[in-house]
Amino acid sequence: MDIKQDTRWKRITGRILHGGEYNPEQWLDRPDILEKDLEYMKEAGVNTVTLGVFSWSMYEPEEGVYRFEWMDQIMDRMYENGIGVILATPTGAGPVWMDQKYPEVMRVGKKYGVSLSRLCQSHCMNSRVFREKTEKIDTLLAKRYGKHPALLMWHVSNQLGGECRCPVCQERFRGYLRDKYKTIERLNQEWWTTVWSRPFQDFSQINPPSAQDEERIHGRSLDWKRFVTWSMKDYMESEIRILREITPDVPVTTNFMSLYPGLDYHRMIDGLDIISWNSYPAWDNDYEPLTETFFQTAFEHAVMRSMKRDRPFLLMESAPSQVSWHSINKAKKPGIHRLSSIQAIACGSDSVLYFQWRKGRGAYEQCHGAVIDHLGTNTTRVFRDVRDMGEALKAMECICGTVSKTEVAVIFDWENRWAIQDMARFSQGRKNYDETVSEIYKILLQNGIDADILPSDADFKGYKVVIAPMLYLLKPQTAKNLDCFVTEGGCLLGTYLTGYVNENTLCYLGGCPGDGLRETFGLYTEEIDCLYPSEENYAGILNGTVETFRIVDYCEILKTENAETKGVYLDDFYKNTPVLTKNFRGKGRAWYLGARLMRDGMASVLKRVCKDADIDWEELPEGLEKHKRYGADRIYTFLLNTTREMLRYNEEDIEPLGIRIIEEVL
Ligand code: ZN
Repeated sequence: MDIKQDTRWKRITGRILHGGEYNPEQWLDRPDILEKDLEYMKEAGVNTVTLGVFSWSMYEPEEGVYRFEWMDQIMDRMYENGIGVILATPTGAGPVWMDQKYPEVMRVGKKYGVSLSRLCQSHCMNSRVFREKTEKIDTLLAKRYGKHPALLMWHVSNQLGGECRCPVCQERFRGYLRDKYKTIERLNQEWWTTVWSRPFQDFSQINPPSAQDEERIHGRSLDWKRFVTWSMKDYMESEIRILREITPDVPVTTNFMSLYPGLDYHRMIDGLDIISWNSYPAWDNDYEPLTETFFQTAFEHAVMRSMKRDRPFLLMESAPSQVSWHSINKAKKPGIHRLSSIQAIACGSDSVLYFQWRKGRGAYEQCHGAVIDHLGTNTTRVFRDVRDMGEALKAMECICGTVSKTEVAVIFDWENRWAIQDMARFSQGRKNYDETVSEIYKILLQNGIDADILPSDADFKGYKVVIAPMLYLLKPQTAKNLDCFVTEGGCLLGTYLTGYVNENTLCYLGGCPGDGLRETFGLYTEEIDCLYPSEENYAGILNGTVETFRIVDYCEILKTENAETKGVYLDDFYKNTPVLTKNFRGKGRAWYLGARLMRDGMASVLKRVCKDADIDWEELPEGLEKHKRYGADRIYTFLLNTTREMLRYNEEDIEPLGIRIIEEVL
């Protein structure tokens, strides 16, 4: 659908959302505090709060006994003060009476013990009782607040995640496998169960992988993870259906947790109107320069942004000061709040929202960063930072609804992550898939390219360059799409570990990269050597002269068929064999890199590939990030100095931790 016609989208766009999660139910006996909250919110430029995330037991203190009057008052007060509400369904944390009366709603863990009530996300999403209770409370909320003028958007549950192995979930897993494989013979074939004498005679014999059970059937591990996502999506959509039916014009989101490995977020997004996520970087840590933390955060923003490329995403949670759950919880140093918040906008967010507005007095999150501290005043440094941000965002309303555009895509695929994590081969301690993908994104960003991050089954039309690092698990459709992308004129870069196994982790026969990519790249891999951290080998990249770059971890021994050699190994028994190749195919080119290079080497290869596709390559000063947002007739360029040094760019100085926004009329 054209976003301009999307009535749900129109409801939230037009201003940058500023504010965050507010838990007034913790302070109902302190009307003086609630009154102060409103006063301070207005002072801080708050235009949005998220309410009701943990309110189930307040709404329904006993089974079937409902109390909404307190929320009516809060919603009304928000509206009277010009503050919009993102209203959560309260299903992230159920009431204690429910666990006591219906113990089947509680999850069964990996060790097959029942998880007793925890703080949040402790319920079985497949439990019939839990679903019934969810339907009831969601229906009541949607009917009561669906037409409330303060309501901006629904926020389904909270930080969906985790797994359950209760009898209901086990049976659903078996049903999922039955639907997928139809016969047990087919499952045995795809899971290769004759190894260790494990063929199943019947689906009823299959259990989820557990702590007590061997977990070395890769196909089962992968299918279990797929099932967990499928099941969570099914649950999430059961909530969305209720909200849609009663309030068809109210948009729906749920808050993702960065690169959370337990759910394939790319499979969860269809029913959501807008992507939102929670970002909690460890700013000014002692293990990486500040610039790297900013780069990593930009990468995570790019993952979220790329899920729905026709619209901005929302930064749903961020800490206005320190969090409480890192190993060391540092205060945000001066300037970091401003720069990190504007970075989110630069990367495509239409919001800066916090967890949380006010610190509670007790329990786990009593010390999690908040706009209002236990001191209870508007005089703190943190409050001033937030107030300044509110002012800054008011001046940026013109940016709302604008989006990023790029001709370069990098593949980052959850199923591939899981398969690599589970593989029993090569360098067990140095798999580093996430790090490899984010490193590529960072190098591109450092050179003026803000790439999209896509799943392996994405549509690559419109891109000039696709980079597919470590695409170990290769699905037939992906192989076809990538080959088509190349033959139609695209420039593809594949790397070591590409196309080793099919979608159920069976190894490809007849050489890797499998499933036709051997022809795309014009080569096959005969062996792979793994390096100890103390070992050294080098790649000699032919680029007029020979440039030498250090190799770490992986060296594939390549046999070229049609590909041209553009670089060779400089040492070991595979000295002088290809490490970098280029294959002309159809109207395009397919590059292949057989080894893991350090950042300088990888930058050299990426530059070569981008130049091959006529992509601008602009080496920015170290620590300068450049992001662009495109509107119908404007481009907004954000220049962010992520260092504490003055940086010079285009003959102008950018202050330490400084920001420049340039508006161009098209
Ligand atoms: Zn369950």
